[in-house]
Amino acid sequence: MRIAIIGAGIAGLSAGRALQAAGIDSVVFDKGRGPGGRMVSKRTEYGAIDLGAQYFTARDGEFRAAVDEWQSAGVVAPWPVNPLVLPERQPARPETRLVAVPRMSALARHLADGLDVQSGIQVSEITRELSGWVLSGRHGESLGEFDALLLTAPAPQTQSLLAEPCPRLAARAAASRMQPCWSVGLVLERPLEVDFDAGFPSSGPLGWVARSGSRPDRPHLPEIWTLHATAAWSEANIEWSPEAVGEYLSTAFAELIRQTPLVTARIAHRWRFARARGALAESVGYLEHEDVLCAGDWVTDGRVEGAWRSGRAAARRLVNRLMERSGQGGG
Ligand code: FAD
Ligand code: NAD
Repeated sequence: MRIAIIGAGIAGLSAGRALQAAGIDSVVFDKGRGPGGRMVSKRTEYGAIDLGAQYFTARDGEFRAAVDEWQSAGVVAPWPVNPLVLPERQPARPETRLVAVPRMSALARHLADGLDVQSGIQVSEITRELSGWVLSGRHGESLGEFDALLLTAPAPQTQSLLAEPCPRLAARAAASRMQPCWSVGLVLERPLEVDFDAGFPSSGPLGWVARSGSRPDRPHLPEIWTLHATAAWSEANIEWSPEAVGEYLSTAFAELIRQTPLVTARIAHRWRFARARGALAESVGYLEHEDVLCAGDWVTDGRVEGAWRSGRAAARRLVNRLMERSGQGGG
């Protein structure tokens, strides 16, 4: 069975790994420069900055077992942080917060190792032919013919890819709303004198602030803070320039901490589809119609753990289908 996975985020990679463990090859296409999707770090002249997912939690037993393996492999470590709700300074719910080391993209690199991941390739069209599913790239070039597809792109992107060839799944994807997030890496001339490393601002344009160097294996200098705007602010100002967003959010940060930090650089990144607020909470973990499956955080619960679980469940479904088919062939 020729299987294509669209998206090398945590869902696509966990699916690729689960298929590989069952002895089944797949090709993973991703339009990004490397694997990771929303769990990535941006390389800058000041070092790598975690501008996407900030940490993850592990609540389910299977995911905890995977996390244990990653910890043994040295790609994941707990982040001993006690975020405060600001400015009230109440502690947030205590949790084991995990990060990849030495940067968030390290986990994706680890999962991608040994898989056929084709980065820098955007799947632009899917067509159904008698011989299978044909994927085409941005310039109309064929990317190959496949018996089964697993789409793990964010819901709106999956929806537009499936609108023609699989309207039933496209309609399911349309039901999952995704919100944007403006994220800023604030590089400072000297360390800030504040007594917390991460916080959830309870009002204003910011929803999350965190000191990079407080995460395991990150350099302490230069001091870098990650600032995330709330979904509402990001939505209202989605078309602002990165410069304007960087300036506005660093002013909001200065007001929050009641200090004016000396800023060396502001690196802003716009995530158009950051947070799957209306995730489908699909109990089996994936969507399916004929030989097309969908997985990703938007199918489950909008978190790194949910994305991993979803990709794995979809891969298991594909393995079962393959076994059913070979059983039929043999009988
Ligand atoms: P993605 O990571 O989005 O992967 C999908 C991939 O598909 C992408 O790599 C994309 O390039 C690719 N793709 C899309 N279209 C195409 C195409 N046409 N052709 C080829 N490739 C394509 N979660 C937490 O648990 N904790 C957090 O603290 C947290 N913070 C976050 C902060 C931010 C700013 C953001 C953006 C997200 C955060 N999340 C957090 C959410 C978390 O990052 C996601 O739940 C998870 O990474 C989703 O993984 P995924 O594989 O489902 O999707
Ligand atoms: P979660 O959503 O249960 O939150 C994890 C911890 O954050 C808990 O301790 C919770 O009490 C605390 N928390 C979250 N929002 C808070 C707030 N406004 N005020 C006080 N405390 C708050 O755990 P999860 O499902 O593992 O998600 C991890 C984090 O990722 C969450 O904070 C979630 O909001 C965030 N996230 C952000 C984006 C984004 O686009 N910025 C996207 C997806 C998830």
